Amino acid sequence: MLKKPLIAANWKLNLNPKEATAYFEDLKKNISSSDFENLAFFPPTIDLQVTSEQLKNTPAFWGSQNVYTEISGAFTGENSVEMVKSLGANMCLVGHSERRTYFKETDEEVAKKVQLIQKHEMIPMICVGESLVQRDSGKTFEILNAQMRTVINILDENRPFVIAYEPVWAIGTGKVATPEIAEEAHQFIRSQLSELLSKEVAQEVLLLYGGSVKPENAAELYKQPNIDGFLVGGASLKVDTFLQIYKATI
Ligand code: PEP
Repeated sequence: MLKKPLIAANWKLNLNPKEATAYFEDLKKNISSSDFENLAFFPPTIDLQVTSEQLKNTPAFWGSQNVYTEISGAFTGENSVEMVKSLGANMCLVGHSERRTYFKETDEEVAKKVQLIQKHEMIPMICVGESLVQRDSGKTFEILNAQMRTVINILDENRPFVIAYEPVWAIGTGKVATPEIAEEAHQFIRSQLSELLSKEVAQEVLLLYGGSVKPENAAELYKQPNIDGFLVGGASLKVDTFLQIYKATI
């Protein structure tokens, strides 16, 4: 069951299986089993086997940073929803801005992946967010609206999903959005969900903020009424800083 706060770790292209094992062993020594209900992990695909072993018997959310738009076939280098699910994963990250920028993922591809993830009874964590050029030209809400609409068109609102608002200009740059800027975007996303789906869904869905979240800024951001947790990149690579962020929310 998804509940607030949800603090998610996106390791990106970091930590090999041996390092991932050490990470989870360290983590388990420092928190109780029930804390895992509030945590999610997105390791590189090669770490999913050890993640599955390490998080077995915990209520943690975990899965891949991406999946392919097809289930099987001649698609060298890709991984399917079914493969990720076969390891016991329950959540997948989708539409991260690094995938949209470097791998040219479109809103339509993101939507198709969301559909496959939900069909396979996993929870999509859907990333949306504007670039600096888009923000500076006053297009933030237009962009968020376009990204949300494409996904919402195919989303099954009766199955769980999570939205992560990640302004591209704040990811990995050390430039965190102010609590006011983040809250304004979260309010907009919630109003879109209310308009395009329903008030009930909009109230229930967890909206995470991502972009240079650190132990020093987490508590202030989390005070905002529409911020239900965080998607953390760089600061999730060390158990200590990741747990400090989690502890700032409880
Ligand atoms: C991310 O990768 O989703 C992210 C928010 O990165 P960082 O915390 O390093 O800005």
